[in-house]
Amino acid sequence: MNPVIVVGSFNVDHVWRCAELPAVGATIAGQYATGPGGKGFNQAVAAARAGARTAFVCALGDDAGGALARQLAAADRIDLRAEASEQPTGTAGIYVDARGRNSIVIGPGANGALSAAHVGADPALLAGARVLLAQLESPVDTIEAALALARQAGATTVLNPAPANASTSISLLRLADVLTPNETEFAALLSRHVGERVDAEAVAALDGASLHGLCRKLLPHGTVVVTLGSVGAFVSHPDEATRGDAQPYYRVGAESVSASDTTGAGDAFNGALVASLANNAGAAFASHVRFANRYAALSTERPGAAVAMPQLAEVQERFPG
Ligand code: ADP
Repeated sequence: MNPVIVVGSFNVDHVWRCAELPAVGATIAGQYATGPGGKGFNQAVAAARAGARTAFVCALGDDAGGALARQLAAADRIDLRAEASEQPTGTAGIYVDARGRNSIVIGPGANGALSAAHVGADPALLAGARVLLAQLESPVDTIEAALALARQAGATTVLNPAPANASTSISLLRLADVLTPNETEFAALLSRHVGERVDAEAVAALDGASLHGLCRKLLPHGTVVVTLGSVGAFVSHPDEATRGDAQPYYRVGAESVSASDTTGAGDAFNGALVASLANNAGAAFASHVRFANRYAALSTERPGAAVAMPQLAEVQERFPG
């Protein structure tokens, strides 16, 4: 039994650090590194290391990238449910310049072929889940089917609507019991689905009542958690379902850490949030957000995304009580 199911992407990231981003037609030298990535995999690793037995549903090619995913999932005791694809395993080519600016090309490959049939292939997997977490680096129809199946099976559905430019529909959003955009994704969803123009950089400074009002328009019957980077997070519940919280809306301040690499902070937050939801189902929602906040903060002190996810014991040691 896996109380947490994560449905989403796995990529092999290829990263070149160079003085300048290459200009059209230029050939330059850079320092190369490779490692695992993909929002789905990052979040599955976070959920597993945060202490929840986790299944990861994805699609992989029959290649070295696919083998890497299997090896890394086994190392974190993740129950990997990979659809075999004729496409190559997903990849990302990332150039980073001396000022930290980047240019990225994603090759979705197998991620773009993850099917709804595969997600629904094992009814026992869905029946055993308390929470299903998905993002939008996979086909949107597949994610919609995954959320619908999980809801039908009685699990809590959590949608991290990332990346911000992914296509979304009202019907997709309504399948989320909990929606977890960052500021950029929140602004994009508001503009697309509510007709509200809000500058992403202005979101964190909005007062609580205004933010709550926007969240209610976006997801009238569900909980919205807007992650606010170094400011923390904002939570908004519908009045009729505050998930054990005394307040329908509130902020949770970020933990004070020496952040050196915030890549994957959102993935850390989402994985930890669902692990806590699944492991402590009776606790107030605010306690899950507080744990996710601590977990994500600690992840920013290390370089990388999946490889930077802390273990539960490290979080407990750093933030006792
Ligand atoms: P994303 O990575 O999707 O852009 P955010 O930047 O909103 O997501 O970060 C997600 C969460 O990570 C925040 O809600 C917060 O809990 C934590 N976090 C991010 N940056 C910091 C930081 N500098 N200090 C402490 N916590 C941070």
